[in-house]
Amino acid sequence: MNDHSQQLASGAVLITVNQRLARHHLGRYQSWQLSQGQLWWETPSILPLRAWLRALHAEALAKGLSSRTLLPDLLQQKVWRQCIAADKNLELLDVDAATSAARSAWELSCAWQCRNPEDDYLPKDQYTWQHWCSTYLQWLDRESSTDEASLANHMIEVFESPEGASLLPERMIFEGFLELPPQLVMLTEALERAGVSVELATRQSNAFVQKQSYADDEQEMLSIAQHMRHELERDPNQSLGLVVPDLQQKRTVVMRAFDRVFFPVMSPDQIRAQGRPYDLSLGMPLSDTSVVTAALSLIRLCSSKVRGSEISAVLLSPYLKAAASEARRREQLDRRLRDVRVRSLTLEQLLGHLYPGSRLERLIRELIERRELDWTTLSGWAARFSDWLTVLGWPGESVDTEEYQAFSAWLECLDDMQLLDDGERVGVDSALHILQELARERIFQLDTPSTPIQIMGRLESHGIDFDCLWVAGLDTEQWPPSGSPSPFLSMAAQKEQGVPGASAAARLALAEREFLMWSSQAPLLIGSRAELRDGKALEAASVPEITSSDPNRELAASRLDRMQDLPAIADPVKHLQSSLCLESIVDDKGPELEAGSEVKGGARLFENQALCPFRAFALHRLQIRPLEEAGLGLDPRQHGTLLHAALELFWKAVRSHEALIQLSDEERGEKVLEVIDQAIIEAQVPAELQSLERIRLSELLEEWLTQSEIPRQAFEVVSLEQRQSLEHGGIVMNVMLDRIDRVGNDLVVIDYKTGTSNRVNTWADERIINPQLPLYVLTNDDIQGAIFAQVARNQTGFKGVASDAMLIPKVKTTVMKSRNGQATERPLEDWNDWRAHWREALDVVAAEVRQGTATITPIKTACLHCELKSLCRIDEVVLAKTTNDEDEVTSDSYAGDGA
Ligand code: SF4
Repeated sequence: MNDHSQQLASGAVLITVNQRLARHHLGRYQSWQLSQGQLWWETPSILPLRAWLRALHAEALAKGLSSRTLLPDLLQQKVWRQCIAADKNLELLDVDAATSAARSAWELSCAWQCRNPEDDYLPKDQYTWQHWCSTYLQWLDRESSTDEASLANHMIEVFESPEGASLLPERMIFEGFLELPPQLVMLTEALERAGVSVELATRQSNAFVQKQSYADDEQEMLSIAQHMRHELERDPNQSLGLVVPDLQQKRTVVMRAFDRVFFPVMSPDQIRAQGRPYDLSLGMPLSDTSVVTAALSLIRLCSSKVRGSEISAVLLSPYLKAAASEARRREQLDRRLRDVRVRSLTLEQLLGHLYPGSRLERLIRELIERRELDWTTLSGWAARFSDWLTVLGWPGESVDTEEYQAFSAWLECLDDMQLLDDGERVGVDSALHILQELARERIFQLDTPSTPIQIMGRLESHGIDFDCLWVAGLDTEQWPPSGSPSPFLSMAAQKEQGVPGASAAARLALAEREFLMWSSQAPLLIGSRAELRDGKALEAASVPEITSSDPNRELAASRLDRMQDLPAIADPVKHLQSSLCLESIVDDKGPELEAGSEVKGGARLFENQALCPFRAFALHRLQIRPLEEAGLGLDPRQHGTLLHAALELFWKAVRSHEALIQLSDEERGEKVLEVIDQAIIEAQVPAELQSLERIRLSELLEEWLTQSEIPRQAFEVVSLEQRQSLEHGGIVMNVMLDRIDRVGNDLVVIDYKTGTSNRVNTWADERIINPQLPLYVLTNDDIQGAIFAQVARNQTGFKGVASDAMLIPKVKTTVMKSRNGQATERPLEDWNDWRAHWREALDVVAAEVRQGTATITPIKTACLHCELKSLCRIDEVVLAKTTNDEDEVTSDSYAGDGA
């Protein structure tokens, strides 16, 4: 454990490898001062290398020792981009990606003093980069600037100037560096030449090393979290560290595992309010924070339009003014927009949907009045964006600490826009794109009070002392980390200079130094790994042997003993459930209905009751409706509505088979197009889809009329889209019948279907899942046929049952019974048998509806496309059943017997 407090008090400067280590030493220095009985003290000079160089450069500028200004990070990116975009020899597909790669190569070449050979025959990538680089350096010279990557070189020149040494302290300590790249070696040598006493802090690698392995990554993380929780409960004053090598990718997984173990029954909001005892070193892009995501969506709405699910995100955003008081109204509006399949929304369109007089309506109206969209500078756009958000009340009426910090970081993004302003006027889309990029590139790290558990990525972990340090992911896939050399720099030069990404030997050497560093940071170092990932067995990474000191061995032993005693918990939530005394209540019945009760939903009520009583109860009695989702084109429901409307209009004009066959092909085609156009207008089909729908529908109707309607025997259409109230088994409902035809003296009811999975044999089942036509048949003795009209491309035709097979082509008087084991035992040999079966089967379903039966007993395949899974929790029922029966059952194949 390195303690530099004495030297710091005597004026030494401590240079750390990163900000986290600087904070660590600052905290330690404060404790040391307090332990010395001090009440106040000078702030010590503890800072990361970059910050020290920047501060020193600012001082040199102020004293006239440097004539070069430091190019801010954002402008570096912009200048590099300009240099690359100006290269007329290339046509790059992604200039931004090339800019990032070229900049990384420049930083690498500075840090490792890696130069491409001076050769006219360089490979194309290197040659191109050299060209960009010289343009960039010319720009720096012209503007008398330097940048972060070359700042150390510039400061070496400053130190070596006559007055340069006056900037420097007497003593400097470098802490936490695994190795010194050549540029840093040059810097320390220059410091020494300038009279500074430079110390490279060394550490003793003497931890007791314990290796652990777990079944998979999830088990590993849960076990670590469990161990840490246990340790913290025992002694809340200890400090525990966890290194996760690929923390950037695993951020969410790690956070979820720790939340599950530390707060198994709390919602994310509750956890945030309570405060976590762990802190992740890596932040997330600012654009991913909810408050900034909302800001970007709101600006998008103001500038052009929002699409798809972003509409809901805007309407239901808690960061809008009056979000709480108008929550109900905004939810209703969201549902309405979903129901009518709104795909995109401009500010003006939104205004048209809003409740007059609502707060949101007033805000949008004000915004439309004062919104300016003409081209302006980036500074102008920053001011406008800020103004728009202010009008909308963003970021809301009450923000918590995390949201406030994100809000502050957002203001810095707007400042950055001004920094990038070169006086050029740009449009709103370009300005918004730049702002989005700035928010994406700015990493948001929540500033939390120091926590007893620190979860870090590799690079943030070096040099910090803990009571116990855990390094996860020590398998050969993840450690040593893989490297990729820069394609813009000579491979030979990268290897020669020891760039870690350029050779396996350099990476291995660096990894070993890293492990030695970790084993100097705590008395006990636990290295863990998963045994299996994505079905692949993993090997343990090879790590250097560490000789532990006796005190560390003793300290580690007691901690490891406690670990052994930890109960193995596979799932903390389940563990909690098992330790609670939960009472199960069977609640599968709703209030009963009196005879003659009307229930909404028409024949769908009987259909859903037959499929799954719980589903019928949820949809028709509780009136629960899944949220609709607007897709790119028309969805199946809209296609069905359009087809029904076109056919209704057609048969209103052409009332009979006789009239149909008297039409010439040309007349029929004209009539079809006429009704389609009218249907398209009535159905408000979006303009961009209209011509497509016109073609699709005209081909479909032509096929239907010529192949199915014209070959029929004479008929007359007696009813179209007739809404009718009917009663069955004491339940009153409204049904809509597509069509009734008279054929001879008989009536047949026809139901149009656009799909192809219409099975007549399901009418022979005990539970009828297509009950509309049977329900209607039972109301009128004159009806002698129940027919599906399948209007589907290349598969048009009639399917159904009737008293006489001659009534309509291909219908039957009896059908094969379905093979799903649900068919009635009753013989179905004539029309009377069918009617009797339907009456009996529908009576059973009606009785269930009246009794309020709501059991979770879906018939086979009922769950396939059901959107209520999260409500009925069928998967849990299936899981429990599977566990009990050790049977292979899935929710899609489940034919349950009660829950
Ligand atoms: S998912 Fe299955 S069990 Fe759940 S309500 Fe839907 S049909 Fe019933």
